[in-house]
Amino acid sequence: MSTPEGFNERVAAWSEDELGVTGRVLDVVTAPATVLSSDGAVVDPTAPEIVQLAADLVATMRVSPGCVGLAAPQVGEGVKVFCVDVSQHPKTRTHHGTYVLCNAEVVESSRNEKAREGCMSVPDLTGDVKRASRILVRGQLPGTGEWVEIRTDAFEARCLQHEMDHCNGYLFLDRVAGAHAIYQRQTYL
Ligand SMILES: [Zn+2]
Repeated sequence: MSTPEGFNERVAAWSEDELGVTGRVLDVVTAPATVLSSDGAVVDPTAPEIVQLAADLVATMRVSPGCVGLAAPQVGEGVKVFCVDVSQHPKTRTHHGTYVLCNAEVVESSRNEKAREGCMSVPDLTGDVKRASRILVRGQLPGTGEWVEIRTDAFEARCLQHEMDHCNGYLFLDRVAGAHAIYQRQTYL
């Protein structure tokens, strides 16, 4: 694992054990559920229901093969909370392990790159999406509510943008260049 400038040791050391609650595996909603196209609400990351939601998102991600991130709208909650873990993905360069961010936003971004994306809420399709391959993201950890900044690249940067999109009411289908950039999924993980 590389540790470039801006690597956040606090986030890398975070695990869902900090939340102190047991995560439940939730059902994942699929398009065209309205919650997937609605702007999520800003949350209080210290609220007990948000702490539970954070644990639930991680638990649901962990039981879903190939899942590298999951956002609250995907389990039917219209709020700005998501989890990621790209540590096992072959396209990952920098990564911070498993973590959950609340109220996250992009502070800086650069270097657009196009790559294929899929989503548990759009199970039958994939698409080519252009996204920044270097980003600085700011958000709050659930439980403590502390603000953290994460500078990352490559696949983790893409995954963060995909999950933040969910929290703002967008799917990767909203980001493709057109119908020519959408594909039937060939394999199911
Ligand atoms: Zn998704």
